[in-house]
Formats: sequence, C-alpha cells, structure tokens
Amino acid sequence: METVILKPSEENIAKCAELIRKGETVAFPTETVYGLGASALSSRAAEKIFAAKGRPATNPLIIHVADKAQIEAVAETDDKSRRLIDALMPGPLTLVLPKKSVVPDIVTAGFDTVAVRMPDHPVALALIREAGVPVCAPSANTSSRPSPTMAQHVYDDLCGRVPVILDGGKCPLGLESTIINMTESVPRIMRAGSVDSSDIERVIGSVNKESVMIDSLADIKTPAHFVPKAELTFSAFYENMCSVIIGYYDTVALLRGRRPVILCTAEHAAEYGGREISVVGESVSDYASCLFEKIREAEKNNYDLIIAEGVPLGGIGTTLMSRLMKLSNGNVI
Ligand code: AMP
Ligand code: MG
Repeated sequence: METVILKPSEENIAKCAELIRKGETVAFPTETVYGLGASALSSRAAEKIFAAKGRPATNPLIIHVADKAQIEAVAETDDKSRRLIDALMPGPLTLVLPKKSVVPDIVTAGFDTVAVRMPDHPVALALIREAGVPVCAPSANTSSRPSPTMAQHVYDDLCGRVPVILDGGKCPLGLESTIINMTESVPRIMRAGSVDSSDIERVIGSVNKESVMIDSLADIKTPAHFVPKAELTFSAFYENMCSVIIGYYDTVALLRGRRPVILCTAEHAAEYGGREISVVGESVSDYASCLFEKIREAEKNNYDLIIAEGVPLGGIGTTLMSRLMKLSNGNVI
C-alpha cells in the first residue's frame, strides 16, 4: 500500500473522512500525539488499526469524538462524567465509561467499558465531524515504539501500512492524554497526562491518584509498551543530578564503548562540558512536549544510550516522569 502525506486542507479532510466512512484508516494530528483512526462502529475497520500497529488485541482503543452527542452514542454517562465533559472537553482527558452495545468488542478488547475523548485540535475535530462517526484511534506508531508527535514519525513507523497521514505539524502537548476510570466508586486516574488531577478534583471532588505511577509500572511488566531503539535510562531529580549523570556518562557509558547522549534542559546545558547533549527546551512543559521527538532524533543520530534528566514531581512533571519510567522500562540511574 502506498502511504501519502496530505496537508489538512478542507478538501483533503473531506477525502480522509470519506476513507473513514468506507472502513479505511487515516493518521491524523491531535493536541497530544498523532492518532491512527478508523470508524469506531466497524469491527473490520478497527481490525486494520491493530494489524497496522502490531498492537496486541488485549489493548483497548480510545474512541475520539467531535461532540457530546457522539459520547452519548457510545457510552453511558452519569452526573460526574457529564460535569467533566462540560468542564474539560475538548481537551487531553479520556474518560473510561460503561460501554454501549453499538461499540464492537474488538474496540474495547472485550471490556464492558469504553474510553472516550474529544481532542482539542482543529484538524482532528474537523475530520471526526466530517466522517460523521466516532473514530477509534490509538497513537499512530508501531506498537511498542514511542508515540509520534510529527507526521514524519508516523511515516517512519507505518509507511506502507496506512493509506494517508494528515500532516498538521507538531502536536502541541506531545504526551498522551490523562485517563480516568469513571466506573469505580472513587474515579481513578489510570494514566497521568496534561490534565492534572487537581483540574479534575476541582470539578468532581476527590479522585484516586494512587496508581498513577504504579499503573505505569504495571504496564512495564506486560509486553513493554515502549521500546526505544536506543537504550534509555533516566535520573531522579535532585540537587546534584548533573554530576551523577556526568559520572554515569563518563564511566558506565564510555567504558562500555557506548555512544551516549544526555537529554537536558537549557539551564543545565553548560554543566555537561563537551559531552553530547540534546536540549529539550527551558521548562518542564517544553521537555514534555518534545520528549518523544528527541528520543526518535537521538536514534536517527545513532546514539545507543539516551540519559534523560529527571524533573520535579507534580503536574506535568509527574506525567513526564511516568513516561520516562515506561520508556526506560524502569531503568533509573
Ligand atoms: P493509547 O494507546 O494512547 O491509545 O491508549 C489506550 C489506553 O487507554 C489503553 O492502553 C488503556 O490503558 C486505556 N483504555 C482504553 N480503553 C479502556 C477501557 N475500556 N478500560 C480501561 N482502560 C482503557
Ligand atoms: Mg499508544
């Protein structure tokens, strides 16, 4: 299959919407990462997503919608979930809700719940609206690779496996959505994302945050979610972090004949002397938005060991650290 990259003009979005209605897949940008979409109401369409990504059938897909009516079409909502929908959607928040029977089992991997989100991205919203069906869409990477944040990443992973990639430029947030399971008596955060637990608690009161990091570890034990081509290790955040990273770089890395690179914020760049570095911006949110891109870039530049700086926990810092935990399979300096 030939894979084309298209600019998201009105005409091209209409073409892609038509492909989705016909049961094909389309890769498209969202505010978090690129998604690989197909009609959420067709098991044959959803099958193509699992096949293209090499995704295990046990891993359910998130359904993307353009409006509230589409949420009601696929899921049962209650007062709390409706308040969250009103307050925080569109946005990088996914709700796990009881599923309606129109959703084929393959989409939810056999669960009686369904994950739903409304992306805050004009191209994603226009595509879903125009398709006229809810669109199930996991990240548009090969399973076990870092999520794609640019059309080129999708092309690198899925060329020949998807017909179209809509190129909407870089995804502004760069990390996947926050997931909250609304079917438990106290809603539980299942994955940290750009929507912080405090944003959610302001709307619906207290939520269970205990498993934000534990959940990431649980993921590590199942077939690895992320397998970067270069080995990744990361540091916790503390005062003398840079000197510990330097020690690791100089001894462990170079003595073993590795080609390491340090992912660091601009603030610390000078501290690493002449060592190989890749600057991830100035702030924790800069770092979060380019983490996956910097990892793919380091792989392309043939580094075989990526040493990532840690950041303070809290807000997007917790989200970033949870992804470093996954990406490194728990490999902390
Ligand atoms: P992604 O790979 O970013 O599309 O995210 C999909 C993730 O959403 C899955 O790996 C699950 O962690 C979560 N998820 C999707 N559907 C469900 C569901 N029905 N119940 C619980 N978690 C879900
Ligand atoms: Mg994914």
